[in-house]
Amino acid sequence: MVRMREADKYRKLSFWHDTVPGSLEPGKPLPGDVDADVAIVGAGYTGMWTAYYLSQADPGLKIVICEREIAGFGASGRNGGWCSALFPASLGKLERMAGAGAATAMYRAMQATVDEVGRVTAAEGIDCHYAKGGTVEFARSEVQLERAAEDVAESRSFGFGEEDLRLMSAVEARELAGATGALGGTFTPHCAAIHPARLARGLASVLRARGVSLFERTPVAEIGPRRLVTATGTVRARYVIRATEGYTALLPGQRRSIAPVYSLMIATAPLPEAAWAQIGLTSRPTFGDLRHLIIYGQRTADGRLAFGGRGAPYHLGSAVRPSFDRVPAVFTALRHTLAELFPVLADVEVTHGWGGPIGVPRDWCASVGLDRATGLGWAGGYVGDGVATTNLAGRTLADLITGTDSELTRLPWVGHRSPQWEPEPLRWLGVNAGLQTMAWADRHEARTGRPSRAARAVSRFLGV
Ligand SMILES: Cc1cc2nc3c(=O)[nH]c(=O)nc-3n(C[C@H](O)[C@H](O)[C@H](O)COP(=O)(O)OP(=O)(O)OC[C@H]3O[C@@H](n4cnc5c(N)ncnc54)[C@H](O)[C@@H]3O)c2cc1C
Repeated sequence: MVRMREADKYRKLSFWHDTVPGSLEPGKPLPGDVDADVAIVGAGYTGMWTAYYLSQADPGLKIVICEREIAGFGASGRNGGWCSALFPASLGKLERMAGAGAATAMYRAMQATVDEVGRVTAAEGIDCHYAKGGTVEFARSEVQLERAAEDVAESRSFGFGEEDLRLMSAVEARELAGATGALGGTFTPHCAAIHPARLARGLASVLRARGVSLFERTPVAEIGPRRLVTATGTVRARYVIRATEGYTALLPGQRRSIAPVYSLMIATAPLPEAAWAQIGLTSRPTFGDLRHLIIYGQRTADGRLAFGGRGAPYHLGSAVRPSFDRVPAVFTALRHTLAELFPVLADVEVTHGWGGPIGVPRDWCASVGLDRATGLGWAGGYVGDGVATTNLAGRTLADLITGTDSELTRLPWVGHRSPQWEPEPLRWLGVNAGLQTMAWADRHEARTGRPSRAARAVSRFLGV
C-alpha cells in the first residue's frame, strides 16, 4: 500500500511522468556491499547513457548504478524535450579555450549526437516520440532581429552553412508557426522533440535487460576513489562516475561546483484541430524567441503545448527542495507568455505545472572527464542543454574508461575544469542578480527598442 503511494508521488513530478507508460514503482535498493568494474551515481541520462555505451563496448563489465529516487527522477524526466545540438558554451568561448578547430568539432559532434539519439532509440525500441523538426527561434522585435543576424554571422564565421542555421523571413516564420509579432528569426534543423520521461524510463529498461544493476531509492552519501558509500552498502569499483547534475551541490565537498538553477514548465490540455490550424508547428519544431531570459516550447505527440522558461529564483546555499519545483507566479507568467505568442490559447486549460534544477557551472561550460589516478569521473554542467549532450558525455566516458583514444576524447570539453562558484551569500546575490538583470533587459528592450548593455555585461562577466 505504501509502495503504491510512492509510485503515485513520482507520477506527479511532471506532465511527462504522468503520461509515461509502465510502472513508476521504485526498484530494489542496493542490498549490501558489492564489487563492480564501474559504479555510477545517478540514473539520469548521463548515468544511463554511460552505462549503455560501456555495456555495449564490453558486455562483460559489471556496472552498478545507484539512484536516490527512481531512474529519470531528475531533469532527465522533466525537461522540455529539446534533443538539440545546443551546447552551453558559445563557439567564441570554445575558441578562446581551445582554438577554432576544436570549437567547430564540438558543435559538429553535438549535431551528430541528435541523430545518434534517434538511431539508438529506434534500434532499442524506445518510443520517445522522437521527431526531428528542427528549432525555430522567433525574432519579435528589431533588437531580436539583430541578435538573430549576429547568431547566424557567428555560425558562418566558424564554417557552418545555411543547412546548419539560417535566417528566416517573417513570411517563413509564419509558415512554421503563427506566433504573434514574428518579424523573422532563425531556423536550425539540428533538433528533435522528444518525450523526455519515455527516453529515461526506456533507457532504464534496456539497461536492466542488458544486466546492468540499477538500484533505486539508494542515496549515495559519499563518493571517493574506487568506492561509493550508501546507507545500505558500499560499492567498490575501479571507476566511480558522478552523474548528479543539478543535485551535485548536495554531495560532500561539491557545494560550490555546480549551482542548481530552476527551470519551470507548464503543459496545456490537448488542443483542438482548430487551434492547431492557427498555431501550426506541424512538423513539431521546437520553438522559442530571442529574448534573454530563455523560453522554450514543443508541440507534444498527443497535441498539447509544453512550454517552459527560466526566472524562478536560485536558493541560498544551492538548496534543492521539492517545493522549489512549483512557483505559482512563474506558472502564471509562462501562461501569459504562451497566450501572448499564440492568442488562441488565451483560455486554454493548463493541466500540469512542474520544474526542476538545471546544473550551472561558474563558467557556463559543460565538461566530462576521468581522473585515471583516482578512478573518479564526471559529466555535467549542461546548463539547460543536456538532453543530447548527456549522450555525447556517455559515449565519451565509455571511451575514457575503456582507454579508447577517439575523436570524442579529444573534444575541448573533455577534462575541462570549471572554476568554483563564489561562497555564499555572494553566490546567491550573483545568480539572482543575473536572473533579474536578464528579465529587466527583456523589459527594457521591449520598451525602448534598444539592446540592453546590462545583459551584455552579465554575459561578459560569466564569460559565456
Ligand atoms: C524543466 C527543465 C527543462 C529542461 N529542458 C531541456 C531541454 O529542452 N533540452 C535540453 O537539452 N535540456 C533541458 N534541460 C536540462 C536537461 O534535462 C539536463 O541537462 C539533463 O537531463 C541532465 O541529465 P543528468 O543525467 O546529468 O541529470 P539528472 O537527470 O538530474 O539526473 C541526476 C540523477 O542523480 C540522482 N542523484 C542525485 N544525487 C544523488 C545521490 N547522492 N545519490 C544517488 N542519486 C543521486 C538524482 O535523483 C537524479 O535522478 C531541462 C531541465 C529542466 C529541469
